[in-house]
Amino acid sequence: MSELERHAYDVLVIGAGGAGLRAAIEAREHGMRTAVLCKSLFGKAHTVMAEGGIAAAMGNVNSHDSWQVHFRDTMRGGKFLNNWRMAELHAKEAPDRVWELETYGALFDRTADGRISQRNFGGHEYPRLAHVGDRTGLELIRSLQQKIVSLQQEDQRELGDYEARLKVFAECTVTELLQDEDGRIAGAFGYWRESGRFVSFEAPAVVLATGGIGKSFKVTSNSWEYTGDGHALALRAGAALVNMEFVQFHPTGMVWPPSVKGILVTESVRGDGGVLRNSENKRFMFDYIPEVFKDKYADNETEADKWYTDADNNRRPPELLPRDEVARAINSEVKAGRGSPHGGVFLDVSSRLPAEEIIRRLPSMHHQFKELADVDITAQPMEVGPTCHYVMGGVEVEPDTAASRVPGLFAAGEVSGGMHGSNRLGGNSLSDLLVFGRRAGAGASAYVQGLTERPAAAPETLARAERSALAPFDGEGGANPYGLHMELQQVMNDLVGIIRKSGEMAQALEKLEALKAKAAEVTVEGHRQFNPGWHLALDLRNMLLVSECVAKAALLRTESRGGHTRDDFPGMDAEWRRKLLVCTASGDGVEASAEVVEKPQVPMRPDLLDLFEYSELEKYLTGQELTGQSGASR
Ligand code: FAD
Repeated sequence: MSELERHAYDVLVIGAGGAGLRAAIEAREHGMRTAVLCKSLFGKAHTVMAEGGIAAAMGNVNSHDSWQVHFRDTMRGGKFLNNWRMAELHAKEAPDRVWELETYGALFDRTADGRISQRNFGGHEYPRLAHVGDRTGLELIRSLQQKIVSLQQEDQRELGDYEARLKVFAECTVTELLQDEDGRIAGAFGYWRESGRFVSFEAPAVVLATGGIGKSFKVTSNSWEYTGDGHALALRAGAALVNMEFVQFHPTGMVWPPSVKGILVTESVRGDGGVLRNSENKRFMFDYIPEVFKDKYADNETEADKWYTDADNNRRPPELLPRDEVARAINSEVKAGRGSPHGGVFLDVSSRLPAEEIIRRLPSMHHQFKELADVDITAQPMEVGPTCHYVMGGVEVEPDTAASRVPGLFAAGEVSGGMHGSNRLGGNSLSDLLVFGRRAGAGASAYVQGLTERPAAAPETLARAERSALAPFDGEGGANPYGLHMELQQVMNDLVGIIRKSGEMAQALEKLEALKAKAAEVTVEGHRQFNPGWHLALDLRNMLLVSECVAKAALLRTESRGGHTRDDFPGMDAEWRRKLLVCTASGDGVEASAEVVEKPQVPMRPDLLDLFEYSELEKYLTGQELTGQSGASR
């Protein structure tokens, strides 16, 4: 084995988006020597791309808002499959996390009386998203980075070294987690993107904050880092993933020109008054209000439009239904031949707001469409269609501490599962990152403080990690990673996409097996210095394993719920709400294979059930659950 660069920390955070940075801040504040690693440049994460805002029941714009209302909305959005304890912690703690961001230097848009402004978003009963125009993620990352710098300045003053207790390693990709012989976390192994040289981090606690899996799908709003690395690292270390069948297709991605297909069009466009129309100029969402939401959404244009100025006395416009509902509706309109010229529908804000207001509220969207599609959204409608956006599934964690079932392994942010159930509400990710990033940092610190000795990985473990990373350079004439990636994306898009069928998913699983066999023989050209083909070959192992989890879980769940729509099982089934699908993996590297089993959902605490009307619970719970449930108001 070649000379290896080595570092040692107490807590290692993999990922420098919102979840990772908030976890690192917390670990450092608990006195841990903390490292943050990211495979992209520091600051380039999905968090920076977030547009619409961060959901928190601060009640600044409508004083009726409260954590209880936010909790209810989140559970409804997830169709009651959410881990209710996570949803409770999230709703209760999100406001503090937003106010805390202000102490780090964040500057949110304000109301006329100077409070943090909050905007409407799909599925949220009241205006709840704190925002900075449509560039909220940028401000979130900027202020978290600013906090990190201020902590480093403290360390410089106290210890004479800016990086004594908190250091960032950018453009460094982790390929393996390291464990001792008892399976406890001992650190991580990876490579520098630029030089291709290997590096190991010894650490008794690792926080995974690697984000999502969108790059397994052909049309996606996600960028190149979203290859499911954290999901796969967790699986290979012995942790479990939950809810992997639930993949969110955001209803509004750009559909044209082809080079930008999938790029997100923020939900703020609809939150600020934009409406969806088909080729017959019909506002079609009124035809798609599902039974469970009929009492909450307006069934005519007059009431829907009045809601923007008088939300207390009118029902919400159906354009603001949860994302899964809107995405399915768009899909149906296009299939019925009422789509726009490039295979989407029309999203129009130009006839709803004055041009200067559109530019003030939606500057990025105005710029994005002008630059990329030569469309002026102040004068013309946009063409939009569904795009793979977010994965609800992820590492199964203990809600209060973010601990996985592997000792020393924690997860927060999009890589973790449970919080959003079968469908995430817009704005609930940024708040999730901060609430559970903080909890993961605290959980990891407490775990390290409780250890009597530091787990160590055997030298052979490191040698194996190196051999596995170098495997794509062995041999000649194997499959090309770029071709394999395109095949994978096509399979997931066509066979495990927005509308699913049993036969197609079985076919997808066969194709995934064949792709795995080809990936085992993948070969790359050139050497280790900045070699994107090699990087993709390593990422492919992760994408294939995680895609297998998605397809296997989706095939097993014979109902439609949230981000999982079965053509052959179109209804929601209360019995299925009581079951979670949990994935584990066996085998190593590209040979690893996924197994999915059912696990009963933990029944919701009675005081939380009491927050719902009995008539609403009847729509989701089984008769048996309702009989045992006496508290909710009837
Ligand atoms: P990220 O912010 O993506 O960070 C992941 C980090 O992990 C990166 O630093 C990456 O380099 C690193 N990483 C990954 N793999 C490895 C590896 N193997 N080794 C080392 N590092 C690794 N949500 C909202 O709530 N409101 C919004 O308005 C909103 N708008 C959005 C707009 C867009 C265009 C997109 C794509 C998403 C949006 N979301 C929004 C969703 C939200 O932005 C993401 O879910 C969230 O930012 C994920 O944060 P994270 O910290 O989990 O991961």
